[in-house]
Amino acid sequence: MAYKMLIDGELVDGALTLDVVNPATGAVAETIPRADEAQLNKAVAAAKAAFPAWSALSFAERRAKLEKVADALEARADEFARLLVLEQGKPLPQAQGEVAGAIFGLRTFAAMETGSRTIRENDVERIVEQRSPLGVVGAIMPWNFPVMLMMMKIGPALITGNTIVAKPAPTTPLTALLFAEMVKDLLPKGVINIIIDANDLGAVMTQHPDIAKVSFTGSTATGKKVMQSVASSLKRLTLELGGNDAAIVLDDVDVKDVAPKIFDAAMTNAGQICLATKRVYAHSSVYEQLCAELARLADEAVVDDGLKQGTTIGPLQNKAQYEKVKAYLDDARNDGNVIAGGHAVEREGYFISPTIVRDIPNSSRLVQEEQFGPVLPVMSFDNVEDAIAKTNDTDYGLGGSVWTSDVERGFAVASKMQSGTVWVNKWLDMPFDVPFRGAKQSGLGGENGQEGLEEYTQARIVNVAL
Ligand code: NAD
Repeated sequence: MAYKMLIDGELVDGALTLDVVNPATGAVAETIPRADEAQLNKAVAAAKAAFPAWSALSFAERRAKLEKVADALEARADEFARLLVLEQGKPLPQAQGEVAGAIFGLRTFAAMETGSRTIRENDVERIVEQRSPLGVVGAIMPWNFPVMLMMMKIGPALITGNTIVAKPAPTTPLTALLFAEMVKDLLPKGVINIIIDANDLGAVMTQHPDIAKVSFTGSTATGKKVMQSVASSLKRLTLELGGNDAAIVLDDVDVKDVAPKIFDAAMTNAGQICLATKRVYAHSSVYEQLCAELARLADEAVVDDGLKQGTTIGPLQNKAQYEKVKAYLDDARNDGNVIAGGHAVEREGYFISPTIVRDIPNSSRLVQEEQFGPVLPVMSFDNVEDAIAKTNDTDYGLGGSVWTSDVERGFAVASKMQSGTVWVNKWLDMPFDVPFRGAKQSGLGGENGQEGLEEYTQARIVNVAL
């Protein structure tokens, strides 16, 4: 397919080009168009021009159009999933799960709406809160869930009446461009614009005077730059950022039962999930057995090209992340005992063996930072309050989990964790109608749920004397 960007209802070539690498081989898979600043400006102007008519439609009219987009995505789900593996690296079943989740998310958002709310009505006054769309939304995405995260921004932005300029990460632009081709004739021109950059246009978007809101998902470091940049025009802003989620494993668990769940929480998508379990605190009475089980699961994992049947862990998504995770492997070897993996796989592409590290001090860089890769440190504790204190002793606060046979105990421990989401005896259950937001430096504002939807609107209070 000849990849094109979508600007003002037209599929267009780029002023520039970009090479896209297949992480399973390290070789260039596609050379695609990328925008210069003039093309970005054109996309924003198109979204601005499309806004009055799109925002004037009823929720039902917009819903019908978004349902058509979801239908089209569903009809080509397999094509999207395979392309996702090519650009992102994850095993095909995980890519299929991501695409299915994205379709379900789009349908969920399409079914939602924001409305008026009467705050007070009596003999002398009527006070009503109304909600209006903001205008042009600038959506900036990372490379770990390109399809899902794009739909988590397009769905709420469009159903509430905004138009959008969406920019995927430069290393995972292919599914966004396939979506551009698919969506071109399904929506009025300018409602969705998709541009590609080389990490250079995000900063231009966040300063653009005609972008009313920035919805950003990515690292905390970039999120801070985004926040500084939007300050000049006080744009509305949602930041979904990094995490260093802890799993706390209590003394009453059935280790055989929970170990595979914790392993998946740490290793799905090769550990490249904002909400992945990035450190484990296990009670000393179950520590030995848990470490042994996690190491066994790591040894059994099939690390290979995501398109090969049976692969359970694919490559890291890009070379920079691969190099970063290799440096964390050095920390693992220097600071702890590596009981599984511990090395990059000797082959082309960006493969790292799933690695389990025990007896590592809490002060190690591998424990303190977001590794975003398949390298899991496992620590032991005797006093659960100690484990909770260590869990909370971080600038991050995205997610976390508690594992126990006693749900009420789990609930009590979860209630002390300083995170936006804490799971008890499960992981990554994220219904789209439930708010999702990061605490501390893991985010600002939130997505999903009615609250997430309302972040794409401006409240207006109309206060009438009767
Ligand atoms: P990143 O911050 O490097 O890049 C994210 C996006 O920002 C890319 O599209 C990039 O081109 C763009 N960008 C780069 N510089 C910019 C600037 N100055 N202004 C505006 N945009 C700019 O993140 P990444 O490495 O692609 O993604 C991994 C990170 O994302 C991890 O920290 C992960 O935890 C986080 N993440 C968070 C969530 C969440 O919902 N909280 C979800 C997925 C990933």
